[in-house]
Amino acid sequence: MRHLLDIFDLTTDEIYELIKKTEDIMNHPNYYLDACHGKILGKLFFEPSTRTCNSFESAIQSLGGGVVGFSDPNNSSVVKGECLIDTVRTVSSYSDVIVIRHPQEGAPKVASQVSVCPVINAGDGGHHHPSQTLTDLFTIYKEKGGFDGLTIGLCGDLKYGRTVHSLISGLSRYKNIKLVLISPNELKVPEYEKKEVMDKSWMKYVETTSLEEAIPELDVLYMTRIQRERFSDEKIYERLKDSYILNKEKLNSAKNDMIVMHPLPRVNEISLDVDDDRRAKYFDQVRNGRYVRMALIMKLLSDMDVPDKKQDESSFRHDLKCNNPRCISYTEKDIKSAFRITDNGRCRCIYCDKEVAV
Ligand code: ASP
Repeated sequence: MRHLLDIFDLTTDEIYELIKKTEDIMNHPNYYLDACHGKILGKLFFEPSTRTCNSFESAIQSLGGGVVGFSDPNNSSVVKGECLIDTVRTVSSYSDVIVIRHPQEGAPKVASQVSVCPVINAGDGGHHHPSQTLTDLFTIYKEKGGFDGLTIGLCGDLKYGRTVHSLISGLSRYKNIKLVLISPNELKVPEYEKKEVMDKSWMKYVETTSLEEAIPELDVLYMTRIQRERFSDEKIYERLKDSYILNKEKLNSAKNDMIVMHPLPRVNEISLDVDDDRRAKYFDQVRNGRYVRMALIMKLLSDMDVPDKKQDESSFRHDLKCNNPRCISYTEKDIKSAFRITDNGRCRCIYCDKEVAV
């Protein structure tokens, strides 16, 4: 049984197969009407969602299956104090695949340890969001015909934006990509992503605070929202919230075939006058998300006999405690902490990937 906790759970070939399958579903949706007849998707949304939750529901229903679970934890036994592990055990017992979104980083990993069916991470804190990445990769592939040689600007909250972290990991697979990381100094891409993903795969990247300077060289501009819910100090959010606003005027200096993407929701970072520009692709992205998730659900259900990618647990250290308050092992008392040793001898929490000093 396979899970999708981060985008590295899929090989490059598998991502390509999913892209091709998505194209086929979009071209022949009727062919797939009964592909998951009788199958149940369990949704466990501990955080609000519009696109991810509805696209998964739409996906399973478009395949002939049904849905159980909750999109608001207040409508579940979570309010009675039920722990994450028991909730996952319960909903997975009624399901063939479960989709979980949670504010704590690593919660889907915990879910995968106790679930009786495949687990899809639909966003864990500021950590990962791999099904969004599949949607983003599909959209880039569809609009640009591939990935090699693209200059891709990621703009906004690169620190807390989980879609950014997963997308960087996804893009690290492809050759010759240049990333232009556009953010305020306070919201740069975390060290983990730089050291363990970008540097390891020799990705070319530059960091800048100026969208105006970066825009003329981009093939793709991926805008993101400043993630208000992840700030511990509201004053810092207020200061940074309008750091970047893409409008028609700024688009004038972009290439004619640059595409503008955004995982949505937008708050203020793309003005409405951009929506009519033919380069605006964020609502195409929304639409693509349903078909990508149809392909993903089918894949996980057909891979039930394929063993999950195993980490070598024998070298894990259990004598340390994660000090990241946003990590699931920090807040859920029954989770045994575990740290993997990196190539350069550092210890990283297996749930949230944060490093601890030893
Ligand atoms: N919808 C995306 C997410 O869940 C992006 C965002 O919320 O800004 O991460």
